[in-house]
Amino acid sequence: MIGAPVQCAEFVSAVLSLRAVSWDAVTMQSIVRMLTIVEAEAPDVRADFRGRMISRLQFDQALARDAIAHGARCLAGTALTRVLPNGGVQLSNGLEVEPRVLVGADGPRSKVGAAIGRANAEFVATRQITVPMTHAHDATDIFLRAAYRGGYGWLFPKGRSANLGIGIDYVYRDRLKALLRELHAELAVAGRVSSGEGPYLTGGLIPVGGRLRAIGRLEETRVLLAGDAAGLTNPVTGAGIEAAVRSGELAGTAAAHLLAGREGALEDYEEELSTLYDAAYGRALRRRRALLGRCASGVASAAALRRAWISSPDYWNEAAP
Ligand SMILES: Cc1cc2nc3c(=O)[nH]c(=O)nc-3n(C[C@H](O)[C@H](O)[C@H](O)COP(=O)(O)OP(=O)(O)OC[C@H]3O[C@@H](n4cnc5c(N)ncnc54)[C@H](O)[C@@H]3O)c2cc1C
Repeated sequence: MIGAPVQCAEFVSAVLSLRAVSWDAVTMQSIVRMLTIVEAEAPDVRADFRGRMISRLQFDQALARDAIAHGARCLAGTALTRVLPNGGVQLSNGLEVEPRVLVGADGPRSKVGAAIGRANAEFVATRQITVPMTHAHDATDIFLRAAYRGGYGWLFPKGRSANLGIGIDYVYRDRLKALLRELHAELAVAGRVSSGEGPYLTGGLIPVGGRLRAIGRLEETRVLLAGDAAGLTNPVTGAGIEAAVRSGELAGTAAAHLLAGREGALEDYEEELSTLYDAAYGRALRRRRALLGRCASGVASAAALRRAWISSPDYWNEAAP
């Protein structure tokens, strides 16, 4: 099924605008604040942090319906099994296709990216459960702890339930299960959530090594990467929905321009991604790596955890220690 299994905490910022999807149809609740809870300290409150919790399943299905309505042929349940050196692709249904333009939007471990030598190399591993909420909540809660090395915990409410998860640097992934069980128990004791889990356990990888060069060539086939395949997730927050949607749109437009004869269309795409994301992701990458270094040497203080998180003024201040 398109969009399943959902491997996402389902938060999108209010800045994401879309023509293809009706927000009313996919929004589960609004978010107006962010609470950042550093170790066991009282929450830092960032007011006016606006966004929405969506049903990622409905969202992905709406995007697919829109693409089909505009002429895309969708082969649900069919995998790309191999990219050939000449840019041809083999599919699990036995079809072989020789595209003039190939757009790789196949996630963090992209086969298309690998074929042109672009592979994400740093990852956060995640584990997430759905838990019943005891009270209505209008904020995304972020848990920063030295134990969550290179990542963080989250409680994102969606009405009566919430996505509760933890991301941690891939190297420490075997700690995820115990850490999440612990966080869940703490929140249950605090009366925030019930101790029972919902039906849903998920997880997945988030690329956190920064943006990859998103264009390439396999003989006569021109190749573009979009979304996670191009490393378009913020290395600190892990957010990637907005960038996946935006880069997908831009990649499609570039492919159409190329086929219409505009030779420089792919280079323009690369330049546009650089303009949109390099400054923000570059800063995030520096903050993440600095914090990881401190965690490894056992000196990740509360101040260091804050400095590496977007709600702290120090995060944005290059001069801060
Ligand atoms: C636990 C978790 C929580 C997250 N929470 C948030 C959040 O709250 N907000 C946010 O903005 N971002 C979040 N992200 C990141 C966000 O989900 C991704 O950045 C986003 O989904 C990227 O979209 P994409 O289309 O590039 O890749 P994906 O969503 O990974 O989609 C890739 C698609 O390609 C398909 N595919 C892969 N290989 C093949 C193949 N060989 N053949 C055919 N199909 C293939 C996959 O099945 C999948 O459908 C989260 C990620 C995780 C793991």
